[in-house]
Amino acid sequence: MPAKGLTARRGYGWAHQQLRERVKRAVHASGVRCARCKLLIAPNQQWDLDHDDYDRSRYLGASHRLCNQRAKTGRIHPPAPALSFFNS
Ligand SMILES: [Zn+2]
Repeated sequence: MPAKGLTARRGYGWAHQQLRERVKRAVHASGVRCARCKLLIAPNQQWDLDHDDYDRSRYLGASHRLCNQRAKTGRIHPPAPALSFFNS
């Protein structure tokens, strides 16, 4: 008898875990470049599986936990003042 409700719980969480596991192995093996600051994430550093700032369904890749938190609390790159020339 198939277990009901099991497949419904796989989805985002399951895919996220699979990807996270793969990145974790890469970080532990040789280090991975941070998606935010482009510096190496050393095996002993804390990191997060980071999402695109504008599209939360896309993964940026691994980033330092600090870089990820900094990106959440304040944007590193402010939006370009695209309409500023209309003010003159
Ligand atoms: Zn970083």
